[in-house]
Amino acid sequence: MEREYHRIGYQQCVRKGQVRMVRRRYGGGYFTILTPPAGAAPTRRIAYRSQFVHVALGYPGLKLLPDLQRFREQHRDPGRVVNAYEPHEHVYDQLVRRPGTVIIRGGGIVASRVLQRLIDDRDRLRLQTRILHIFRTYTAGSHGPSIFMRRKGGRLVEDLLSLARIDGGLMLQMSPVDLREIAVQAADRARLTAPGLTVRVEGVPTTVPGTASGSPRCSPT
Ligand SMILES: Cc1cc2nc3c(=O)[nH]c(=O)nc-3n(C[C@H](O)[C@H](O)[C@H](O)COP(=O)(O)OP(=O)(O)OC[C@H]3O[C@@H](n4cnc5c(N)ncnc54)[C@H](O)[C@@H]3O)c2cc1C
Repeated sequence: MEREYHRIGYQQCVRKGQVRMVRRRYGGGYFTILTPPAGAAPTRRIAYRSQFVHVALGYPGLKLLPDLQRFREQHRDPGRVVNAYEPHEHVYDQLVRRPGTVIIRGGGIVASRVLQRLIDDRDRLRLQTRILHIFRTYTAGSHGPSIFMRRKGGRLVEDLLSLARIDGGLMLQMSPVDLREIAVQAADRARLTAPGLTVRVEGVPTTVPGTASGSPRCSPT
């Protein structure tokens, strides 16, 4: 990343400010009107001419589910129901001041990050936060497209947390793992779930660095 940063001269390309509008030019390309940070330039607006504009403004059009939107409109309370992409530090702050219950809806990476923050705060500060996690697709039993691609059910929260922690820079605790041994265990499980099938493991023991348990064990970097 750093090499690429220097190669393309990223620092020299960057102009800080808020984009007010982008307009197509008669002669081709675009004008982009920018408000620079206060005091950073002699004028309040600067127009840039460019051949291309890559719009990458994140999620400017936040959308709530209809019932949550109704709640907001009815109670005129934008602080209690929040989209994770909105500023919502006040929720974590309030939970530090007094115990509360948080309902998280959704099971993707953003939900897992929010969950991780709540649980980390709860562990670190000994808070009494109660968390209710609502999924549309929670599966308690073992599931998957075939016996070889089965996932244990009911471990979604654990999986989400592992995912969030790994993504957040936590390192897996690596140790030598025998791939053949893992294959033998998978074959044992397959024989149990599908006794009619003949499952055979071939190959010699092969050791690679990995995490021995099914769910990754993590340690802070
Ligand atoms: C709580 C939370 C946790 C998340 N955790 C993860 C995670 O662990 N892993 C993961 O992969 N993804 C995660 N995501 C999702 C990830 O953050 C987004 O998918 C990703 O940031 C989107 O990138 P982007 O470049 O499209 O937009 P952004 O990262 O939102 O960047 C948009 C930028 O445009 C700027 N901008 C907006 N309007 C203007 C304007 N008019 N003028 C100038 N600049 C403007 C904004 O200030 C911002 O800097 C998480 C999201 C949230 C909300």
